[in-house]
Amino acid sequence: MRVAIEKKAPKPKTCRNPACRGSFVPQRLGQAVCSPKCALATVEVQKAREKKTLAQAGRRDIKARKEALKSRSDHMREAQQAFNEYIRTRDQAAGHLCISSGKPLDWSGNAVDAGHYRSVGSAPHLRFDERNCHAQSKHDNRFLSGNAVDYRIGLIARIGQEAVDALESDQSVRKYTVDEIKAIKASYREKTRELKRTAA
Ligand SMILES: [Zn+2]
Repeated sequence: MRVAIEKKAPKPKTCRNPACRGSFVPQRLGQAVCSPKCALATVEVQKAREKKTLAQAGRRDIKARKEALKSRSDHMREAQQAFNEYIRTRDQAAGHLCISSGKPLDWSGNAVDAGHYRSVGSAPHLRFDERNCHAQSKHDNRFLSGNAVDYRIGLIARIGQEAVDALESDQSVRKYTVDEIKAIKASYREKTRELKRTAA
């Protein structure tokens, strides 16, 4: 009597090619795709994925190297931009007029500066002082040299005589490390985002 040798039927598998996902019965050990066509397709997908990963790593690397090459003044410029952007966002949200001319500000284009009362050049220690910086028309800031006389009048109305006196007599010296400058930039970016979120 012959003993029937029962060959265990291989279990069907799902093709690994994402575009196929067909069911197939493996003919070989470890067969993961249903056909040579799908084998080729998965190799292409894998290659594309590796290329993308390499490109991402490259971009990360370039970004890290650029960051490492930044000078102290690069960091300072970025922090100042972040601070100024916050000042504009703050004053736009509050509906303020130009601090010096008292005229409505045109927020539609690129006509509003963050104007420092005591300039960054002559009073660098007040460059990140929120009392010292307000939304101002580009016209006043750039073509009227800040329009200091009217700025002072507007500033007293905005923050009060006492605060203006404090600003005017402030001769303190502030030294920032690069890490502190970076922290200032990050904090003002966050403050701007927060303000835009709540204003929207
Ligand atoms: Zn397939």
